[in-house]
Amino acid sequence: MIPISKPLIGDAEKNAVMEVLDSGMLAQGPRTALFEDRFAATCGTKHAIATSCGTTALHIALLAHDIGKGDEVITTPFTFQASINSILFVGAKPIFVDIEEETFNINPDLIESAITPRVKAIMPVHLYGHMCNMDAIIDIAQRHDLFVIEDAAQAIGAAFNSRCAGSFGSGCFSLYATKNVMSGEGGMITTDDEAVAQRCKMLRNHGMQRRYYHEMLGYNFRMTDLHAAIGLVQMERLEEFTARRQANAAYLNSEIRNLITPKVHSGYKHVWHQYTVRMPGKPKDGLARDAAVKQLNEAGVGTGIFYPIPAHKHGYLRDYGVEAVSLPVTEQVANEVFSLPVHPQLSQEDLETIVTEVNRL
Ligand SMILES: *Cc1c(COP(=O)(O)O)cnc(C)c1O
Repeated sequence: MIPISKPLIGDAEKNAVMEVLDSGMLAQGPRTALFEDRFAATCGTKHAIATSCGTTALHIALLAHDIGKGDEVITTPFTFQASINSILFVGAKPIFVDIEEETFNINPDLIESAITPRVKAIMPVHLYGHMCNMDAIIDIAQRHDLFVIEDAAQAIGAAFNSRCAGSFGSGCFSLYATKNVMSGEGGMITTDDEAVAQRCKMLRNHGMQRRYYHEMLGYNFRMTDLHAAIGLVQMERLEEFTARRQANAAYLNSEIRNLITPKVHSGYKHVWHQYTVRMPGKPKDGLARDAAVKQLNEAGVGTGIFYPIPAHKHGYLRDYGVEAVSLPVTEQVANEVFSLPVHPQLSQEDLETIVTEVNRL
């Protein structure tokens, strides 16, 4: 089976972990600090704050912007549920805005009419590694005095008009094992705002700046140096990983004939966290997409569906006062998408197998 994702772990990662083990300093320490510096430099931000995962990065980024009970956050329904859960964790409510069919990202044209007096922030999600239209989103945010908290979990290294994901507002990244740069588990917050950075550092460490002087309610959302060591090695190879993903995606785009293939809009640097195609159609028994995925899996081609159920459709949201809404583009696309392997470890033979099997659907 050609897997949908495969973490690239070499001797450098293994040696880096062994060095930390030998040093005896396992928890948040010098490797984490170095990883933060490298991350900030890569994203072009003044600060980067490492966390235990992407979800905790989102959680404390919201808190650091003083978003809580009674507040609302505009976001997309086509995302991993962590984006939504982080909003609920702080006691705020998500307001869902439908997506653009081509980029799968929040549709900026629909944002303004969704703004209520309680909306305090916009959380754009750069899905699959293609950034949202940040000109439009920043413009709306400035006119309505809203914070922008980017969920850049899938978009490390992505850019819009040469500016990196995570540098438009405060950015939240995930270093989960399947992400473009990974540390097993891990997260990062990027920001230019000194006060936000300080609050994030305190929130991740029990509200402390000085040991045992607790200035606010905080958490243990720290990264360990074991994870940071892996992330540091991976970070050095970001451009190489991205270039391979781009080459793989270009090949798939040029060879796949029978599906709606993904487009890259001009001005965007797509980092291809996922290569996602659409297969419309609803035969009598189930979705055409589901049949295609089954056929591909049987032929040894791994697939993923990100995400089969739109975020706003999960019933538990009603328990948090989030009303049911209808978002037609998202609901249609969720029935049609599936992702094919695009990761850096694919061989030319793998790519040819994928294309042959897809064109046979
Ligand atoms: C992976 C991911 C997250 C959560 O990150 P974790 O590190 O798994 O907590 C949040 N949002 C999106 C869009 C993601 O893909």
